Parts: sequence; structure tokens; C-alpha cells
Amino acid sequence: MKELASLKSLLQVPKNIVITTHANPDADALGSSLALYHYLKGRGHNVLVITPTEYPDFLHWMPGNEDVLAFQEEMAETSNQIIDEAEVIFCLDFSSLNRIKSLEAPVRDAKAKKVLVDHHLDPEGFADFQFWDTTAAATAELIYDLIVALEGKKVINADIANCLYAGIMTDTGSFKHPSTTAKVHYTVASLIELGANVNQVSRNIYDTNSTNRLRFTGYALLEKLVVKSKLEVAYFVISREDFKRFNLKPGDTEGLVNYALSIKGIVMATIIIEREDEIRLSFRSVDDFAVNQFANDHFGGGGHKNASGGASSLSLEDTVKKFEKLIITYKEDYHSPAILQ
Ligand code: 5GP
Ligand code: MN
Repeated sequence: MKELASLKSLLQVPKNIVITTHANPDADALGSSLALYHYLKGRGHNVLVITPTEYPDFLHWMPGNEDVLAFQEEMAETSNQIIDEAEVIFCLDFSSLNRIKSLEAPVRDAKAKKVLVDHHLDPEGFADFQFWDTTAAATAELIYDLIVALEGKKVINADIANCLYAGIMTDTGSFKHPSTTAKVHYTVASLIELGANVNQVSRNIYDTNSTNRLRFTGYALLEKLVVKSKLEVAYFVISREDFKRFNLKPGDTEGLVNYALSIKGIVMATIIIEREDEIRLSFRSVDDFAVNQFANDHFGGGGHKNASGGASSLSLEDTVKKFEKLIITYKEDYHSPAILQ
């Protein structure tokens, strides 16, 4: 691995390093970033994690959370300066720069060496070093491989292990998705040996519901779930009013889409959410139905074969109409084993 040798020599002496990840970071995005943060700090580098947006409370337990700079417009000047002065920028868990929102321009223009570590399709090609593997279950799996390749397992402490474990656990849907290979289990076994606390991480992430959130889930299942059995599609439409009624926070709708996918015979599940500035869509599928292609073709998004997302600038009502029209024809277009990942 030529890239590895060059990266190793680049990191030989202490550097100013920025780590960034996609907007609305999930456990893989933040866990990978903080794991790498702890590793690089331990090697004497000056490191800062900058996220393009805030992230949900159930990720705040991650060690190093208090040191993260979550971007807000008021701090644009400071954040631009930090990015401009960085010597190395790690870009984790995204493949195109538009996924880092306001950080896109400063990162694109930065003179720093850029290192991409990711498992999404089609990297844009902005990085000087690419550790990119679409067969990886999580970016955290790649960060584990990278740290081991750079220095060996011995530098992975319990903090790093917990962050990486969180990323792999969530991106594999708790070791259920097809991406859950034997290698994933070997990696996770090693993380447990190195101090990952399986029960604690799982409870931190999955068992921190507010009563509101749980009641909202019940309401959504009862009143918001639309099932089109013949089309093998099920979906939720969540409005801003719903957010207000249940006092929801951004992360509170996470995972809801999986209930729709759990219905027998459903091939594609979707959640359509009315956010402040746009309509966000999340897609999930089983087997060979390529929702990344679907998201890309119709909602300017992407992701993985069985989990993707996109957006719409139409009204909520018009977005739903567009979606309902599309699913009538989807089978012929997307139900293709030829479309991989
Ligand atoms: P989620 O539905 O959980 O937000 O995202 C599911 C998957 O799709 C994740 O891997 C995420 O990175 C990807 N994804 C979500 N939204 C977008 C988007 O707008 N563009 C691209 N390229 N990928 C997305
Ligand atoms: Mn990921």
C-alpha cells in the first residue's frame, strides 16, 4: 500500500489536523472521527474534529464529544481559519464534499493534504489519499484497519474501541445487514478485547428514548404508516407539526423507517420528513433493490444499495405525490441485481 507509507511519513512529525464528517453525523461518522481524534492526539498531533452540524444527544456520551466543534454560521470565520491553517484534513464517512454543507468551500480550497476514509460509492476525487472500500460495513471498520496498519492494535485504548464499536454496531443495524461479514465480527471481537463495552455502548445508543419519542413512535406506527402491499412499499410522512406536537429533536425519527421495512413482503421503506429548510427522505430496502440509485435519480442523494437518503425542495405534499408516482414504476427500473452496492 503506497498510500499507507506516504500517509505514515506525513504523520511522522506533529501536525495541525482537522477531522470532519458528513452533516447530521450518525454514530459511524462521529465514532470514526473521535476514534481517529484520540489516536492522532496520542501521537502528539494537534487535532480538532469539526462537524458541519449538531448531532443527536444519544451520541454525546462518546469520549471526546466535549472537544468537538459543531459548526454554526456565527463561528464561520473561526472555523474557516482553522481549516485554512490545517496541514492535514481527514474526511470521514462521506464521498462528496456537498455532504459537509458550509464546510465544503473551505475544505475544497484548503491547502492541507486531504485524506478520505469512507465506504460510500463514487468518491468525488478531492483527496490526496483515499482509504475507500464500499464493501466495508462502516467507516469505523476502515479506521480500525488504518490504525492497525499504521501502528498495530496496541494503540487502540478503550475510548477508541468504544467509538469504533458504536460505528460498526449501528452501520450494520446491530450486525444484521448483509454487510456483516466474518471480518466485521473479527474486528468487533478485537475491539471487545481492547476494551469496548458492548452492553454500555448499546444502551447509550438505543436505550435513551425520551417518553415523547416513544409515544411519537406509537403515533407514527398507528397513524402515519402507509403500506402499499401490492407495490411492496411502506412509508411514513412526518410533518413539522408532528415535530412540534411531540417536541421532537432531529435524531428522534432515526430508525423509524426500519419498522416499515420489517413488514413481511415489503421491499422498500421510506420516511419523508419535513425539516425547517427542505424535505429529507430516507430509503431502506432488502435484497437487490438499489435505493441509492433511486435516491440519486430522483432526490439528488445517494448512499448504499440498501440504505440511502436524499432531499426535495418541493412542498411536503408535492414530494409525497412525486414519491407515490415513482413507486408505481420502480420495480422495472431498480429491481436489478446488476446495480450493486
Ligand atoms: P440516512 O437515511 O440514515 O440519513 O442515510 C442512509 C445512508 O444514505 C447513509 O449511508 C448516508 O450516508 C446516505 N445518505 C443520506 N443522505 C444522503 C444524501 O443526501 N446524499 C448521499 N450521497 N448520501 C446520503
Ligand atoms: Mn457509515
